[in-house]
Amino acid sequence: MTRERWGDPNDAALTSWVPLDAAGDFPVQNLPLGVFEGTGGARIGAAIGDRIVDLRAASEAGLLDGIADPAALRAATLNALFAAGRPALTRLRARLSALLRSDGDPALHALGDALLVDRSQARMQVPLAIGDYVDFYSSLEHATNLGRIFRPDGEPLLPNWRWIPIGYHGRAGSVAIDGTPVRRPCGQRKAPDAAAPTFGPSAMLDIELEMGFFAAGGNRLGEPIAAAAAEAQIGGFVLVNDWSARDVQAWEYQPLGPFLGKSFLTTISPWVVSLDALEPFRVAGPLQEPPPLGYLQAPGPHGFSIELAVTLQSAAMRAAGVAPATIARGNFAGMYWSAAQQLAHASSNGARVRPGDLFASGTISGSTPDSYGSLIELTWRGTRPLVLPSGEQRRFLEDGDDVALHAWCEKPGAARIGFGLARGRVEPAGAA
Ligand code: CA
Repeated sequence: MTRERWGDPNDAALTSWVPLDAAGDFPVQNLPLGVFEGTGGARIGAAIGDRIVDLRAASEAGLLDGIADPAALRAATLNALFAAGRPALTRLRARLSALLRSDGDPALHALGDALLVDRSQARMQVPLAIGDYVDFYSSLEHATNLGRIFRPDGEPLLPNWRWIPIGYHGRAGSVAIDGTPVRRPCGQRKAPDAAAPTFGPSAMLDIELEMGFFAAGGNRLGEPIAAAAAEAQIGGFVLVNDWSARDVQAWEYQPLGPFLGKSFLTTISPWVVSLDALEPFRVAGPLQEPPPLGYLQAPGPHGFSIELAVTLQSAAMRAAGVAPATIARGNFAGMYWSAAQQLAHASSNGARVRPGDLFASGTISGSTPDSYGSLIELTWRGTRPLVLPSGEQRRFLEDGDDVALHAWCEKPGAARIGFGLARGRVEPAGAA
């Protein structure tokens, strides 16, 4: 109804009465949801330009009547909104579009700045209470690179990789918001020629450039989510930096997989960009050979063309006023396993998926060396150091390094949308 009356929220011609920067991440065609620290605690908002629409206040002003449950908009997380499922999120975005576009419903504009908050002043929070966090391993190029690095004499891809979207359970409690300091973790590491491991600060601290999606709706225990219907259970995407201690990981990961080498911190960007906003950027994923088993087959394109970049600024660069350097550029479209297939696989045994569960893609690497999504690949386990504009070399992260992940979508005929940032600065380890 709102859609018919006000038109397509993705229409590139739409403008807003909120001032917008043409190159910004949050035009009226995006309208991602997040949670910010506001008057009286955490509040739900939608990003537009340099502002946030306070959705709790908008609801209390009667602007969202019949669109979203007022109790869900009074909450301190997006979980109740996401529990209402994709159709409810689509309805809310369409209503926000109507309230924010120049030729739309003037009700919000009439209330003026009372419902708008400056984004630069807002402290963002993790937007959903994350019950379960899964990290996949869905980039063919990343899995191949790590196979070559760790098993140089064998077949780079393990025999199961092209059949199973490989994943493991991460630590939901360590998922933190953009800007959270990265305390260098301590752990057990063992040099190849050493007789025994030692415990101390990781010397191989790394990044992993990933996208992640939050579940909306969910399933009942014992009832798998079909691949063809899985996108109806996805609320939207954020950037994910799955910080990794490679030396800890290398010593601990066999036979059960990553544990403390990963669980110390995972940083996400604050704004959940909906699948509806990503629709103009939908693309077919890579050809899958052999064809996936039936429960992983989903007709139609399920990839998204999302441009990605990683920037790094050392303490010395910061002190000298040298801008952050781009150390990797990539695109999400090349991921072998789609989000729909990941969700279908994760629930294929009947495992429960709840609103707010986070599923990360795995490191996103492309086919060229400048498109690798981790330092262990970019420097080939430290054997080919990066040279920063300051002349410094990097094998892995040093204390004081600032890392930022960037993601955006653009193509002719569509409005450019972005995800904001997932940033972190490395701090020295505590006492070992
Ligand atoms: Ca990962």
